[in-house]
Amino acid sequence: AFDVLVVGGGPGGAAAAIYAARKGIRTGIVTERLGGQVLDTMSIENLISVPQTEGPKLAQALENHIREYDVDIMTLQIAASLSRQGDLIHVGLESGATLTARSVILSTGARWRSIGVPGEQEYRNKGVTYCPHCDGPLFKGKSVAVIGGGNSGVEAAIDLAGVVADVTLIEYDRNLRADDVLQRKLRSLKNVRIITNARTTEVRGDGAKVTGLAYIDRATDEAHEIALSGIFVQIGLLPNTDWLKDALDLTPRGEIRVDDHGATSIPGVFAAGDCTTTPYKQIVIAMGEGAKASLAAFDHLIRTSLP
Ligand code: FAD
Repeated sequence: AFDVLVVGGGPGGAAAAIYAARKGIRTGIVTERLGGQVLDTMSIENLISVPQTEGPKLAQALENHIREYDVDIMTLQIAASLSRQGDLIHVGLESGATLTARSVILSTGARWRSIGVPGEQEYRNKGVTYCPHCDGPLFKGKSVAVIGGGNSGVEAAIDLAGVVADVTLIEYDRNLRADDVLQRKLRSLKNVRIITNARTTEVRGDGAKVTGLAYIDRATDEAHEIALSGIFVQIGLLPNTDWLKDALDLTPRGEIRVDDHGATSIPGVFAAGDCTTTPYKQIVIAMGEGAKASLAAFDHLIRTSLP
C-alpha cells in the first residue's frame, strides 16, 4: 500500500505528491492527465515569482518536478470509487484495478460550465475565457461581456469594470441572481451595461479572435449583436467529484468539504484545490492547499501508522 496516494495531477496534486515524497514515504499519484487545467491555459501571469509562462510549459515543469522524486506516477487512469476498509483506503479505478493507501489526497479539480453555443470552443483562449482573475488584464481598454448574473458573474463584471473599457453583463433570466449588495455596486458603475432575459446564441469571430456575440431577446424574440473583444463565461464551476457522491461529505454544489487542514469527512482522506470548498480557484492557491493537505496527511500517518 502507498503511504500517500494522490488522486488528480494538476497543480494541487503535484504539490501534494512532492511534499509527501520529500518525507521519504511511499507516494503515488494517479491521474487522468498530468498538469490538469493548466494544460488548457495559454498565458499565465499570476503564478507568483513567475511573471509569465504558458500552460503546457508549466504542466511540463510540474511533471519534471514530480520526477525529481521517487513518486509512482500512474497517468491515463480515472478513479471511480473510494472507501475506507479497516486501516486502509481503497481507490478503485475505471480500469478495474484497486489501489490501497494509508492516506489519500483528492485533487481532482474542476471544469468550467460552458454555454454550449457555436464559436465558444473555437474561440476559447482567443477571447472566450472563464477566469477574470487570470485574463482580465489582457482586455485592458477593450469591450467585454460577462455571461451569467449570479454572484460570480456580477463579481467578475465589477472586477473587470476597473480594468477594461466597458462591460456588458448578459443574464438569461429576467433578473440577476447575485446578492443585492453586489447588484447595487454593479449598477453604480458607469461603464457597465446589464442585459437580462437574453439567450446567447453565438460567439462571433474573425477566425483568429472574438469580435462579438449574438443573442436573442427572450421577451421579443429579436436578434441582436454586440461588438466585443472578450467574453467571460461565468455560469458555474463543476467540481470533478461525481464519483465521490456516496463516499464523503460534499456540498450541494459537489465541492468536497475540507477543514483548515484539508481533512475531509473520512479519516486519512484529505483534499486540495478546485475540487474543495476552499474559495478562489487559482493555481497558486491549489499548490498551497496541496502542500498543506500533504503535511496534514503526514501528521495523520505519524499518529496512526508510520513505524
Ligand atoms: P486541476 O488543474 O483541475 O487538476 C485536476 C486533475 O485531476 C486533472 O489532471 C484531471 O485530469 C484529474 N482528474 C479529475 N478527475 C479525476 C479522476 N476521477 N481520476 C483521476 N484523475 C482525475 N489559474 C491561475 O492561477 N492563473 C491563470 O492564469 C489561470 N488560467 C486558467 C485558464 C483556463 C482556460 C482554465 C480552465 C483555468 C485557469 N486557471 C488559472 C485556473 C487553474 O488552472 C486552476 O485553479 C488549477 O489548475 C486547479 O488545480 P487543481 O490541482 O485543483 O485541479
